[in-house]
Amino acid sequence: CGIVGYIGDKKATPILINGLKKLEYRGYDSAGVATFDSNCINVIKCKGRLAALETKLTEDMPSANMGIGHTRWATHGEPNDVNSHPHISQSGRFAVVHNGIIENYIKLKDFLQTQGFEFKSETDTEVVAHLIEYHYKGDLIQAVIECVNDIEGSYALGVICSDCETQFVAARKDSPLIVGLGKNENFIASDIPAILEYTRDIYILEDKEIVSLTKDEVKVFNILGAEVKKEVYHVTWDA
Ligand code: GLU
Repeated sequence: CGIVGYIGDKKATPILINGLKKLEYRGYDSAGVATFDSNCINVIKCKGRLAALETKLTEDMPSANMGIGHTRWATHGEPNDVNSHPHISQSGRFAVVHNGIIENYIKLKDFLQTQGFEFKSETDTEVVAHLIEYHYKGDLIQAVIECVNDIEGSYALGVICSDCETQFVAARKDSPLIVGLGKNENFIASDIPAILEYTRDIYILEDKEIVSLTKDEVKVFNILGAEVKKEVYHVTWDA
């Protein structure tokens, strides 16, 4: 399974697919991407190999400059198109990719259903998309912090929001996630080889760190919302 995210001047989709191919060694049963295109989030996903996703994408190649991509190793809900990631929130304003397991998803799902959220998939992940929407009051970082405070389990997350064309957010605990620091572009990925052809400057995220990425700025926060100063790790090896 794997996650890749991109924001910058280039077209996001080929970079996401290229990065996911570099993560194929981690294993997966489905794949998908969400991009931000002309004020709305566009999700393309399907069961099967990345080649199947690429066929769908060539029919309808999004031209966005920001997006998140995912390969899934199903833990909750069979591998099928609906259970593939990204998952979107009730209103369609938030798209989420997730690697890991949300241990308390049944309790959260019950709560969210009492708040009027309707679930489309059988995954544990879908609670994350709705929970971010539930907490969102105009600040995506704050909503993701409140969401990760509610969830138990393991996660690497990438989140895009249709209110913020110039920013996306990621977070991790007990599932790997790194940040790639580029020039006029920034990345997230489950592992360094996914982004090594674009940059060698990396932040290694620690558990319960939340990161905000724009094309020219990366800010890392702890779970209390305080900014964390990170060391840049320079990769000297080749994948
Ligand atoms: N638990 C999630 C699911 O089954 C994510 C699996 C993964 O790590 O790819 O959809």
